[in-house]
Amino acid sequence: MVTPSHLEDLISALRCLPGVGPKSAQRMAYHLLQRDRAGAQHLAKALELAISNIHHCSKCNNFSEQEVCDLCSSPKRDAGLLCVVEMPADLLMMEQTQCYKGLYFVLMGRLSPLDGIGAKELKLERLVRRVHEYPHDGKMAEVILATNFTVEGDATAHYLATLLQSQNVKVSRIARGLPVGGELEQVDSGTLAQALLERREVIS
Ligand SMILES: [Zn+2]
Repeated sequence: MVTPSHLEDLISALRCLPGVGPKSAQRMAYHLLQRDRAGAQHLAKALELAISNIHHCSKCNNFSEQEVCDLCSSPKRDAGLLCVVEMPADLLMMEQTQCYKGLYFVLMGRLSPLDGIGAKELKLERLVRRVHEYPHDGKMAEVILATNFTVEGDATAHYLATLLQSQNVKVSRIARGLPVGGELEQVDSGTLAQALLERREVIS
């Protein structure tokens, strides 16, 4: 068996990036080696540091370098509210609205049976555990489902509502001020803030 050269190895490694086929991987490898060796070094170092230092926050599942991220440990956040979003970018969008002061849970994806992503792959039992451990402070806690308004995002919200039914919390879904098929990342923060304010309780 012939061992691939370092060049071939680099090209095939670059193909782990989403949307990168053999041609673009080849272009990237040539660019890094021919035109930007310093950039390539920086990339290699940044990748290595990110891989060894960034983990998931044990509370919200977002990327974090600490066991519990700054947002989860902030005393300024309202622990009675837990907003469930698909991706870290959606959390940032919610933060930009500046009208949400609760906590989050980041799914790191959505249910997508066609891609083989089910409840197990999303580790939804972590969300259930999180809701279960929730500090209630004597008041009714609320879980706000802010998954995207795509078919898969809606299906995920529906599944979560059913899953959380037995957890003794109010479950709501952000309002349809967002366009059908809309992704949180693509709407302006005013629209998202409105959708959050007009959220409705989910009765499953
Ligand atoms: Zn966190």
